Amino acid sequence: MKEIILVKNGELALKGLNRNTFEDILIKNMRKSLSDLGKFEFTKGQSTIMVDPVDDIDLDDAVDRVSRVFGIAALSRACLCEKDFDSIKETTAEYLEEQLEDAKTFKVEAKRADKKFPMKSPEICRELGGYILSKFHHLKVDVHNPDITVTVEIRDNFAFVRGNNIKGAGGMPTGTSGRACVLISGGIDSPVAAYMMAKRGIELCAVHFASPPYTSELAEMKVMELLKKVARYSGVITTYVVPFTKIQEAIRDLCPEEYFTIIMRRVMMMISEKIAEKQNCNALITGESVGQVASQTMYALRCTDCAVNMPVFRPCIGMDKEEIIAVSRKIDTFETSIQPYEDCCTVFTPKHPKTRPQVDDVISAEQKIDNLDELIAEAISQVKKVIIR
Ligand code: ATP
Ligand code: MG
Repeated sequence: MKEIILVKNGELALKGLNRNTFEDILIKNMRKSLSDLGKFEFTKGQSTIMVDPVDDIDLDDAVDRVSRVFGIAALSRACLCEKDFDSIKETTAEYLEEQLEDAKTFKVEAKRADKKFPMKSPEICRELGGYILSKFHHLKVDVHNPDITVTVEIRDNFAFVRGNNIKGAGGMPTGTSGRACVLISGGIDSPVAAYMMAKRGIELCAVHFASPPYTSELAEMKVMELLKKVARYSGVITTYVVPFTKIQEAIRDLCPEEYFTIIMRRVMMMISEKIAEKQNCNALITGESVGQVASQTMYALRCTDCAVNMPVFRPCIGMDKEEIIAVSRKIDTFETSIQPYEDCCTVFTPKHPKTRPQVDDVISAEQKIDNLDELIAEAISQVKKVIIR
């Protein structure tokens, strides 16, 4: 039996004008995500793309990967067969045996692209439905809410049979919306933020601030592990690790304690913006959410925001922690995120941070570091680049 994957385009079906380009990018992304499994051929149909393994490949792994590629509404595995009704009947009973055994109700749908096929769609449905009932005595027909929908499609050179669809990752194909740079910590929120923006078609790069010896090698490895999980959806993430110790020590030594965190966050933004510019990014992404901690009150966010000119995307801004956790479980970053390693945000935290900082006060506090520009330039010159895939 020859099995293929059928992919149903998501939102890109709506994008009349650019549909072709979008589909090409989607195919390129699928090709990349499947590249180390073997060779596949991709054929565009009306609103589906056929993914056809050239070699003898176990499709489980391939389906799993394709189900994480953005821009796909739904996918299904299908079995090819000869374009005659006997072959269609036999293939259905054999290929879908397990699923038909497990179901209580079913219906049949038929699509006939080849109008020369001797049976019309309603006849195929009726005849195949009758055959299924004669083979699986426990089954009942339910045309409104069946446990399994058996779909038969008659195309020009072959027919295929398939069962239920699997939900796709949705969103837009990565790379159709430009590039942005995510500020990634080891926490729960920033990997979720990265995933959410990648889902909108944005290609990611990432910046992580490390403060050895206050933060450990293990904390950095944890961040790389998180990025790997995000990369299963977004594709490659070029990551820049910035040495942040000297800057944090300067903030600690020279600025009023109540502004430590907010100034640190501003400097993170400034450095990230410089790296992002070089990487052709048009926005920064953070995992901030209003009110979550003192550095994320609206007043504090205003102070961080005005440190840069680039737009800052904060997709978690209106979500509460439980909603963010639900996404992190879905993308399998939660268990990694909760491993307890120190982040640079948690060293030198003030006892009483200002929850309503004013921009002017923060800027004058920051100006106590008179060589900040030099420190920033030095940190950027020592950045370590890691390719995450
Ligand atoms: P997260 O769960 O993403 O760590 P958080 O709720 O712990 O978020 P903060 O620690 O205040 O909040 O960080 C807010 C945002 O700042 C993070 O979502 C992330 O985008 C960025 N950030 C924090 N620490 C770092 C870091 N070490 N390197 C890069 N970005 C960071
Ligand atoms: Mg954090």
